[in-house]
Amino acid sequence: MLLLDARRAAVGGGEVRRLLPHPRQRRLGAWCFVDHFGPSAGGGPGVGPHPHIGLQTVTWLIDGRMHHGDSLGSSQAIAPGELNLMTAGHGITHWERAPASGAVHGVQPWIALPESRRHGPPAFEHHGALPRTTVGSWSATVIVGELAGHRSPATVYTPLVGVELVGAGPARLPLRVGWEHGLVVLEGAVRIDGVSAGIGQAVVLDGPDVSFTADAPARVLLLGGEPFESPVLMWWNFVARTSEETAAAAEAWRDRDPRFGDAATFPDDRIDAPPTPHVRLVPS
Ligand code: MN
Repeated sequence: MLLLDARRAAVGGGEVRRLLPHPRQRRLGAWCFVDHFGPSAGGGPGVGPHPHIGLQTVTWLIDGRMHHGDSLGSSQAIAPGELNLMTAGHGITHWERAPASGAVHGVQPWIALPESRRHGPPAFEHHGALPRTTVGSWSATVIVGELAGHRSPATVYTPLVGVELVGAGPARLPLRVGWEHGLVVLEGAVRIDGVSAGIGQAVVLDGPDVSFTADAPARVLLLGGEPFESPVLMWWNFVARTSEETAAAAEAWRDRDPRFGDAATFPDDRIDAPPTPHVRLVPS
Protein backbone atom coordinates (compact mmCIF):
# COMPACT_ATOMS: atom_id res chain seq x y z
CA MET A 1 0.00 0.00 0.00
CA LEU A 2 1.23 3.43 -0.94
CA LEU A 3 -0.16 6.78 0.24
CA LEU A 4 0.06 9.51 -2.42
CA ASP A 5 -0.23 13.25 -1.78
CA ALA A 6 -1.67 15.42 -4.53
CA ARG A 7 0.30 18.35 -5.82
CA ARG A 8 -1.36 21.69 -6.42
CA ALA A 9 -1.72 22.74 -10.03
CA ALA A 10 -3.31 25.81 -11.64
CA VAL A 11 -6.16 25.15 -14.10
CA GLY A 12 -8.57 27.70 -15.56
CA GLY A 13 -7.90 30.36 -12.96
CA GLY A 14 -8.39 27.94 -10.06
CA GLU A 15 -6.30 25.41 -8.24
CA VAL A 16 -6.70 21.64 -8.45
CA ARG A 17 -5.34 18.66 -6.52
CA ARG A 18 -3.41 16.55 -9.03
CA LEU A 19 -3.15 12.95 -7.84
CA LEU A 20 -1.77 11.36 -11.03
CA PRO A 21 0.75 11.19 -12.52
CA HIS A 22 2.76 10.92 -9.32
CA PRO A 23 6.53 10.30 -9.11
CA ARG A 24 5.81 7.05 -7.26
CA GLN A 25 2.84 5.95 -9.38
CA ARG A 26 2.59 7.02 -13.02
CA ARG A 27 -0.76 5.38 -13.73
CA LEU A 28 -3.43 3.02 -12.47
CA GLY A 29 -4.13 0.85 -15.51
CA ALA A 30 -4.85 3.34 -18.32
CA TRP A 31 -5.87 6.05 -15.80
CA CYS A 32 -2.99 8.43 -16.40
CA PHE A 33 -4.06 11.73 -14.88
CA VAL A 34 -6.42 12.75 -12.07
CA ASP A 35 -7.44 16.30 -11.18
CA HIS A 36 -9.74 16.91 -8.19
CA PHE A 37 -11.17 20.44 -8.36
CA GLY A 38 -13.19 22.51 -5.86
CA PRO A 39 -15.35 22.92 -3.96
CA SER A 40 -15.11 26.44 -5.28
CA ALA A 41 -17.46 29.37 -5.51
CA GLY A 42 -17.83 28.64 -9.23
CA GLY A 43 -18.07 31.50 -11.65
CA GLY A 44 -15.61 32.81 -14.14
CA PRO A 45 -15.19 31.82 -17.75
CA GLY A 46 -14.12 28.25 -16.94
CA VAL A 47 -11.55 26.73 -19.26
CA GLY A 48 -11.50 28.13 -22.81
CA PRO A 49 -11.01 26.13 -26.02
CA HIS A 50 -8.00 23.84 -25.81
CA PRO A 51 -6.95 20.69 -27.68
CA HIS A 52 -6.41 17.09 -26.62
CA ILE A 53 -4.92 14.01 -28.28
CA GLY A 54 -4.55 10.39 -27.27
CA LEU A 55 -6.83 10.32 -24.24
CA GLN A 56 -10.37 10.21 -22.88
CA THR A 57 -11.55 12.76 -20.31
CA VAL A 58 -14.00 11.60 -17.66
CA THR A 59 -15.90 14.50 -16.07
CA TRP A 60 -17.66 13.65 -12.82
CA LEU A 61 -19.26 16.24 -10.57
CA ILE A 62 -19.86 16.04 -6.85
CA ASP A 63 -21.66 19.37 -6.59
CA GLY A 64 -22.76 22.14 -8.96
CA ARG A 65 -23.13 22.23 -12.71
CA MET A 66 -20.81 22.56 -15.70
CA HIS A 67 -21.27 22.88 -19.43
CA HIS A 68 -19.17 21.13 -22.09
CA GLY A 69 -18.69 22.31 -25.67
CA ASP A 70 -16.43 20.75 -28.31
CA SER A 71 -15.32 20.77 -31.94
CA LEU A 72 -17.77 17.95 -32.76
CA GLY A 73 -20.61 20.38 -32.03
CA SER A 74 -21.42 18.85 -28.63
CA SER A 75 -23.10 21.19 -26.15
CA GLN A 76 -23.81 19.33 -22.96
CA ALA A 77 -24.73 20.32 -19.41
CA ILE A 78 -23.57 17.98 -16.67
CA ALA A 79 -24.84 17.53 -13.11
CA PRO A 80 -23.71 15.26 -10.25
CA GLY A 81 -24.34 11.59 -11.00
CA GLU A 82 -23.91 12.10 -14.75
CA LEU A 83 -20.90 11.29 -16.91
CA ASN A 84 -19.30 13.29 -19.70
CA LEU A 85 -16.85 11.09 -21.58
CA MET A 86 -14.80 12.71 -24.32
CA THR A 87 -12.53 10.65 -26.58
CA ALA A 88 -9.81 12.79 -28.16
CA GLY A 89 -8.38 10.19 -30.52
CA HIS A 90 -6.23 12.00 -33.12
CA GLY A 91 -7.50 15.43 -32.05
CA ILE A 92 -10.38 17.37 -30.49
CA THR A 93 -10.97 20.83 -29.02
CA HIS A 94 -13.23 21.43 -26.02
CA TRP A 95 -14.20 24.13 -23.54
CA GLU A 96 -15.77 23.83 -20.11
CA ARG A 97 -17.87 26.45 -18.33
CA ALA A 98 -19.04 26.77 -14.74
CA PRO A 99 -22.12 28.85 -13.82
CA ALA A 100 -21.61 32.40 -12.58
CA SER A 101 -22.37 31.41 -8.99
CA GLY A 102 -22.76 28.32 -6.86
CA ALA A 103 -20.27 25.71 -5.77
CA VAL A 104 -18.49 23.53 -8.31
CA HIS A 105 -16.80 20.37 -7.07
CA GLY A 106 -15.67 17.42 -9.12
CA VAL A 107 -12.98 15.24 -10.52
CA GLN A 108 -11.61 14.82 -14.04
CA PRO A 109 -9.48 11.74 -14.61
CA TRP A 110 -7.93 11.03 -17.99
CA ILE A 111 -7.68 7.61 -19.63
CA ALA A 112 -4.72 6.95 -21.97
CA LEU A 113 -5.91 5.49 -25.28
CA PRO A 114 -4.15 2.35 -26.52
CA GLU A 115 -2.24 2.32 -29.82
CA SER A 116 -5.25 0.71 -31.55
CA ARG A 117 -7.53 3.68 -30.78
CA ARG A 118 -5.39 6.75 -30.23
CA HIS A 119 -5.08 7.62 -33.95
CA GLY A 120 -8.85 7.29 -34.50
CA PRO A 121 -11.64 9.89 -34.68
CA PRO A 122 -12.79 11.99 -31.72
CA ALA A 123 -16.08 11.20 -29.96
CA PHE A 124 -18.22 12.44 -27.10
CA GLU A 125 -20.84 10.69 -25.00
CA HIS A 126 -23.03 11.74 -22.09
CA HIS A 127 -24.63 9.29 -19.69
CA GLY A 128 -27.42 10.70 -17.55
CA ALA A 129 -27.77 7.59 -15.42
CA LEU A 130 -25.25 4.94 -14.42
CA PRO A 131 -25.60 1.58 -12.66
CA ARG A 132 -25.68 1.72 -8.89
CA THR A 133 -25.15 -0.92 -6.24
CA THR A 134 -24.11 -1.15 -2.61
CA VAL A 135 -20.86 -2.21 -0.97
CA GLY A 136 -21.51 -2.74 2.75
CA SER A 137 -23.41 0.37 3.80
CA TRP A 138 -21.80 2.42 1.01
CA SER A 139 -23.57 3.30 -2.22
CA ALA A 140 -21.54 2.69 -5.36
CA THR A 141 -21.96 4.22 -8.83
CA VAL A 142 -20.20 2.38 -11.66
CA ILE A 143 -18.81 5.17 -13.84
CA VAL A 144 -16.61 2.99 -16.06
CA GLY A 145 -16.25 -0.78 -16.31
CA GLU A 146 -18.00 -3.26 -14.05
CA LEU A 147 -18.54 -3.97 -10.36
CA ALA A 148 -20.36 -7.04 -9.03
CA GLY A 149 -22.21 -7.57 -12.33
CA HIS A 150 -23.19 -3.91 -12.74
CA ARG A 151 -21.67 -2.58 -15.96
CA SER A 152 -21.33 1.04 -17.07
CA PRO A 153 -22.41 1.85 -20.64
CA ALA A 154 -19.37 4.15 -21.04
CA THR A 155 -17.15 3.25 -24.02
CA VAL A 156 -13.57 2.49 -23.04
CA TYR A 157 -10.79 0.74 -24.95
CA THR A 158 -8.79 -1.10 -22.29
CA PRO A 159 -9.89 -3.15 -19.26
CA LEU A 160 -10.70 -0.51 -16.62
CA VAL A 161 -12.86 0.25 -13.63
CA GLY A 162 -13.97 3.56 -12.10
CA VAL A 163 -16.48 3.53 -9.21
CA GLU A 164 -17.61 6.29 -6.87
CA LEU A 165 -18.39 5.12 -3.32
CA VAL A 166 -20.29 7.27 -0.82
CA GLY A 167 -20.94 6.17 2.74
CA ALA A 168 -19.54 5.49 6.18
CA GLY A 169 -18.55 2.45 8.21
CA PRO A 170 -16.60 -0.58 7.04
CA ALA A 171 -16.62 -1.94 3.49
CA ARG A 172 -14.73 -4.57 1.52
CA LEU A 173 -14.19 -4.53 -2.21
CA PRO A 174 -12.75 -7.34 -4.30
CA LEU A 175 -9.92 -6.29 -6.64
CA ARG A 176 -8.97 -7.94 -9.92
CA VAL A 177 -5.76 -9.91 -9.71
CA GLY A 178 -3.08 -8.47 -12.00
CA TRP A 179 -4.73 -5.04 -12.20
CA GLU A 180 -3.53 -1.82 -10.60
CA HIS A 181 -5.99 -0.09 -8.25
CA GLY A 182 -6.17 3.06 -6.17
CA LEU A 183 -8.68 4.94 -4.01
CA VAL A 184 -8.86 8.72 -4.37
CA VAL A 185 -10.47 10.50 -1.40
CA LEU A 186 -12.92 13.16 -2.62
CA GLU A 187 -14.70 14.03 0.65
CA GLY A 188 -14.09 13.08 4.28
CA ALA A 189 -11.46 10.53 5.23
CA VAL A 190 -11.02 6.76 5.16
CA ARG A 191 -8.77 4.30 6.98
CA ILE A 192 -7.11 1.41 5.18
CA ASP A 193 -4.85 -0.97 7.11
CA GLY A 194 -4.58 1.59 9.90
CA VAL A 195 -3.51 4.35 7.48
CA SER A 196 -5.76 7.38 7.28
CA ALA A 197 -6.24 9.15 3.95
CA GLY A 198 -8.10 12.42 3.43
CA ILE A 199 -8.90 14.95 0.72
CA GLY A 200 -5.91 15.46 -1.54
CA GLN A 201 -4.65 11.94 -0.99
CA ALA A 202 -4.92 8.63 -2.80
CA VAL A 203 -4.03 5.12 -1.70
CA VAL A 204 -2.52 2.61 -4.11
CA LEU A 205 -3.96 -0.79 -3.23
CA ASP A 206 -2.57 -4.29 -3.18
CA GLY A 207 -5.01 -7.10 -4.07
CA PRO A 208 -6.86 -9.37 -3.86
CA ASP A 209 -9.26 -7.09 -1.99
CA VAL A 210 -9.40 -3.91 0.01
CA SER A 211 -11.09 -3.24 3.35
CA PHE A 212 -11.65 0.35 4.35
CA THR A 213 -13.70 2.26 6.89
CA ALA A 214 -14.85 5.79 7.56
CA ASP A 215 -16.04 7.21 10.89
CA ALA A 216 -18.06 9.93 9.16
CA PRO A 217 -19.63 10.17 5.69
CA ALA A 218 -16.96 10.05 3.01
CA ARG A 219 -16.70 9.90 -0.77
CA VAL A 220 -13.98 7.99 -2.58
CA LEU A 221 -13.22 7.09 -6.19
CA LEU A 222 -11.91 3.62 -6.99
CA LEU A 223 -9.77 3.62 -10.14
CA GLY A 224 -8.22 0.48 -11.56
CA GLY A 225 -7.20 -1.29 -14.69
CA GLU A 226 -4.95 -3.71 -16.48
CA PRO A 227 -1.36 -2.38 -16.52
CA PHE A 228 -1.14 -0.14 -19.60
CA GLU A 229 0.47 -1.52 -22.78
CA SER A 230 3.35 0.96 -22.87
CA PRO A 231 4.85 4.03 -21.22
CA VAL A 232 3.18 7.27 -22.33
CA LEU A 233 4.45 10.78 -22.89
CA MET A 234 2.23 13.42 -21.30
CA TRP A 235 2.82 17.05 -22.19
CA TRP A 236 0.26 19.85 -21.75
CA ASN A 237 -3.09 18.38 -22.88
CA PHE A 238 -1.55 15.64 -24.96
CA VAL A 239 -1.02 11.95 -24.28
CA ALA A 240 1.40 10.55 -26.83
CA ARG A 241 4.47 8.32 -27.13
CA THR A 242 7.15 10.62 -28.56
CA SER A 243 8.39 14.18 -28.30
CA GLU A 244 7.84 14.61 -32.04
CA GLU A 245 4.15 13.79 -31.66
CA THR A 246 3.51 16.35 -28.93
CA ALA A 247 5.50 19.01 -30.83
CA ALA A 248 3.49 18.31 -34.01
CA ALA A 249 0.21 18.55 -32.08
CA ALA A 250 1.24 21.88 -30.51
CA GLU A 251 2.23 23.19 -33.94
CA ALA A 252 -1.12 22.12 -35.41
CA TRP A 253 -2.93 23.92 -32.56
CA ARG A 254 -0.91 27.12 -33.13
CA ASP A 255 -1.68 26.90 -36.88
CA ARG A 256 -5.44 26.39 -36.25
CA ASP A 257 -5.10 23.14 -38.20
CA PRO A 258 -8.41 21.31 -38.89
CA ARG A 259 -6.95 18.38 -36.95
CA PHE A 260 -8.57 20.11 -33.94
CA GLY A 261 -11.82 21.10 -35.66
CA ASP A 262 -12.99 24.32 -37.26
CA ALA A 263 -11.28 27.04 -35.21
CA ALA A 264 -13.71 29.66 -36.62
CA THR A 265 -16.53 28.07 -34.60
CA PHE A 266 -14.75 28.17 -31.22
CA PRO A 267 -15.40 30.73 -28.46
CA ASP A 268 -12.67 33.38 -28.57
CA ASP A 269 -10.94 32.66 -25.25
CA ARG A 270 -8.83 29.89 -26.73
CA ILE A 271 -5.79 28.77 -24.74
CA ASP A 272 -2.36 28.97 -26.32
CA ALA A 273 0.03 26.04 -26.20
CA PRO A 274 3.06 26.59 -23.97
CA PRO A 275 6.45 26.79 -25.72
CA THR A 276 7.65 23.44 -27.02
CA PRO A 277 10.39 22.17 -24.68
CA HIS A 278 13.95 22.36 -26.00
CA VAL A 279 14.77 19.05 -24.39
CA ARG A 280 13.59 15.77 -25.81
CA LEU A 281 10.78 14.35 -23.67
CA VAL A 282 10.68 10.64 -22.98
CA PRO A 283 7.69 8.46 -22.16
CA SER A 284 7.38 7.03 -18.64
MN1 MN B 1 -9.52 19.56 -21.35
